[in-house]
Amino acid sequence: MASQASNLRGIVIASRDYGDKDKLVDFLSSNLGLISVCVKGALSRNSKFSGFTIPFSTCDITVKKTGNFYYLSDYSILEGNSEIINSLEAMIVASHISSVIQRFVFQSENSREVYELAAYAYFTLARNTNKYLLIYSIFNWRFLAILGQTIEYKSCSVCDEDIIDDDSSIYLSILEGRSICESCFSKTTNKSSYVKVSFSIVKSLNFIAYGNLSKVFALSSNQSASEILAFFTTKYLERQLEIDIEVLVELNKLNLYSSAQDTN
Ligand SMILES: [Zn+2]
Repeated sequence: MASQASNLRGIVIASRDYGDKDKLVDFLSSNLGLISVCVKGALSRNSKFSGFTIPFSTCDITVKKTGNFYYLSDYSILEGNSEIINSLEAMIVASHISSVIQRFVFQSENSREVYELAAYAYFTLARNTNKYLLIYSIFNWRFLAILGQTIEYKSCSVCDEDIIDDDSSIYLSILEGRSICESCFSKTTNKSSYVKVSFSIVKSLNFIAYGNLSKVFALSSNQSASEILAFFTTKYLERQLEIDIEVLVELNKLNLYSSAQDTN
């Protein structure tokens, strides 16, 4: 069977050794979704392909398909995003993004949107490693929006009162797309499944879900808003995808460790 060459744009999500000489790269392409690319000879010292196997970079590649395998024949890096590996926090977030994509994106109809989201996420993370918590939340919420598992928060799910711009609190369910007002919250029996948020958090979530990606990734937030967004989107993602996410636990350990170092 003759193999045909294709040119693809995409992101190196992860790579692993394959036998003694080769590597397998999980590549999220903009038009074929997530594919495995075999890089022959990648483990040898003078391989011309070794630069391709470093995760989180955006690349143009040429591959040849034989059977179910794609073999790399050429590549060029568009964005290396190499700054990510200089920050442990950024590495934890980037690895989370990769692992969600590996588990939930195959040749799905949404792969182009997920590719764009991941490309923005790694690019922004590499240039703003200190924004890791916000970028983490943006990825989580937008990913769920692409899967159709978020809602736009507009009104109280019980009394239908509008969520308006004032000082009152809003409660968002971590189980499903529900938002309730303060007085309905006081009557609910299932209080532990709601997270109390400010109006500006609700606005951010709606914007992250449906806004222009370049503007979404230009968002900024203070530390406490970033923490609420990270907590809420973690719980929601865990529930919707039925997985456990350890990112906040890992980040917390890291912070405890670094503050212990600071005091010494
Ligand atoms: Zn209400």
